[in-house]
Amino acid sequence: MRALTGTIQSYDAPSTPEIARRVGLPAEEIVRFDGNTSPQALPSTRAEALTEELGRIHTYPHGGYPELERAIASYAGVAPENVVLGAGADDLILLLTRSFASPGDTVAIANDPTYPMFPISVWVAGAAVGDDDPVLTVCCCPNNPIGELGELPCARPLVVDEAYFEYFGATAADLIDDDLIVIRTFSKAFGLAGARVGYALAGRDAAAELNKRQHPAPLSTLSAALALAGLAAPPDVTPILEERERMRQRLRELGLEPRESHANFLYVPVDDPQAEYDRLLQHGLAVRPVRGGIRITIRTQQDDDRLLQALA
Ligand code: PMP
Repeated sequence: MRALTGTIQSYDAPSTPEIARRVGLPAEEIVRFDGNTSPQALPSTRAEALTEELGRIHTYPHGGYPELERAIASYAGVAPENVVLGAGADDLILLLTRSFASPGDTVAIANDPTYPMFPISVWVAGAAVGDDDPVLTVCCCPNNPIGELGELPCARPLVVDEAYFEYFGATAADLIDDDLIVIRTFSKAFGLAGARVGYALAGRDAAAELNKRQHPAPLSTLSAALALAGLAAPPDVTPILEERERMRQRLRELGLEPRESHANFLYVPVDDPQAEYDRLLQHGLAVRPVRGGIRITIRTQQDDDRLLQALA
């Protein structure tokens, strides 16, 4: 096997049963604030949405997913020819990086800290992370783990990860004909993290080149059906945004300094992120320890109040 160019550590988190076992609590009492997912599925996520696809589950989705591509194009204000599908945004990050970068190349990552999958995808491609004449530049907007917007780099080709697009509303998708590629996901606002559906928006030529490099059936047809049902009734993120601002205020009242966020999570600086993570885990509350702080996914008021109590 080709050696990795960086040190890769999984950024995955332990399973809920594993956390429950570790802290000696029933699994039902564990609340996850560590995945930046929705606290519940959308009303459109029902078994009925799967019936038709189950009837042909023994076949491949020959010809791709034209209905889903059309629905995404209409949602994103582009043409179906601008859409590239993948098994979650992670699949597209990997596809894009390996499509642009070869061993020996450099890829620039604009934000720091940012989403760990960016450097991982560069190292898997055999390339290096750096700013010296990059073949590709990647940025995340709003950025994970802090939630800030930042300025879009002028560099091209540029990938803009908009996994949290729905919570902010602004997009770089109007620049896809200017050598810019947007990545989005159904894992966050659409509540389909387990289904693994993501997409990229790119200029027609770039999208065609990327589709050539993607394998023929990257999505489960069941996942595609759930994404299609979600697009028929897109989510209203207002309750999450209101809850985020309530949480931010409450955290401030506890003497903490949560940073402004444009996504469905808050970054709270703490002295010892790992110790704070361990302490909260003892209460059955799983947050994400990140550099210099903890990242808290916004959930329901009831769940969030449990976290506030533990933090107090
Ligand atoms: N990009 C960012 C910035 C993310 O935070 C995440 C999820 N943690 C992803 C991509 C991956 O999303 P998906 O579930 O679609 O692979």
